[in-house]
Amino acid sequence: MTDPATGTTARLVVDLSAIAANYRRLGAELGAGVVCAGVLKANGYGLGANRIGRALWDEGCRVFFVAHFEEGRTLREALPGAEIFVLNGAAPKDEAEFAAHRLAPTLNSLADVTAWARLCARLGPHPAALHIDTGMSRLGLPPEELDILAAEPARLGAIDLRLVMSHLACGEERGHPMNARQLAAFEEARARLPAARASLANSSGIFLGPRYHFGLVRPGLALYGGNPFPDQPNPMRPTVRIEARLLQVRNVDQGGTVGYGAARILERRTKIATIAIGYADGYRRNLGDRDRVLVAGQSVPVIGRVSMDLVTLDVTGLADGALVPGSWVEIVGPNRTVEDLAAQSGTIDYEILTTLGARLQRHYVTGAA
Ligand SMILES: *Cc1c(COP(=O)(O)O)cnc(C)c1O
Repeated sequence: MTDPATGTTARLVVDLSAIAANYRRLGAELGAGVVCAGVLKANGYGLGANRIGRALWDEGCRVFFVAHFEEGRTLREALPGAEIFVLNGAAPKDEAEFAAHRLAPTLNSLADVTAWARLCARLGPHPAALHIDTGMSRLGLPPEELDILAAEPARLGAIDLRLVMSHLACGEERGHPMNARQLAAFEEARARLPAARASLANSSGIFLGPRYHFGLVRPGLALYGGNPFPDQPNPMRPTVRIEARLLQVRNVDQGGTVGYGAARILERRTKIATIAIGYADGYRRNLGDRDRVLVAGQSVPVIGRVSMDLVTLDVTGLADGALVPGSWVEIVGPNRTVEDLAAQSGTIDYEILTTLGARLQRHYVTGAA
């Protein structure tokens, strides 16, 4: 029986104080006058863009990055005074709305520059960032377009150019030769363009040292506790716990089966606990029969396949007193990092966070709660 006093759900607990502490920690790497922005794309890496945006604002953060126009519009409601850049740029149909909500598009091509300059000619100067491709080959002006713009800076027209930026491909590998190559390409590009604040570093880039900082840095993952250099000790504080309610416990005889496909046939009498999380919550299906989670502080294996809403655990080794229906089972928390769950899932922490299910109940805490 499920205890009627408890829920039957999974939750995501976000520690806003830890995010604030991480923001301060990143700021401590920066020289005077270097602006530390906050990257809040994909709903703040899955954790809640507006809540985190307000917490960062309280720490003095005034510049934010999102990827999509809709993300920018939503964030604008929470942060009326912030400077908000939209990394994927402005589609022609959205340009007027960008201006109305004071969202600054990232201009990723010469065509983007022309379109935004036309809007500024009509409506007066509006802010934008100019993105130069220095090796990602993804977005940003490629070298031949940079040449054209450098030769004819008047193409920028009345654009209020707030930022010239580029993005590192290999920042999380300190010794990777791409870093120095991109730094040199970015410095050269900047020198050929009208003066504006410059930005190259993401989370990892901040820890590559002051030459990578320029006027503004753009951390995302590190704010949320991610490790800037995955092969070194993590200087950031963890910010999330993921927990699922324990729903039921049963004993199943030898020869019994567990879960979809009856994929697990029990070799001995086994105590099975069912918890309220599944792949719909972002707990990956490939963790079936592979992962371990913490029940009452003890590590136990997942048994059988992961369902949409449920996971089964082999708790044969645990006393019945430790298996309280309604109690929380730790998926990520003090004993287990997001990075570890990601490794077990065959992916990276960025993907784990941004694919957490919308259904997970979000709780925001401050302090040590
Ligand atoms: C996502 C992103 C960032 C933040 O990167 P992290 O590795 O999460 O710090 C910075 N700049 C750009 C252009 C991005 O797309």
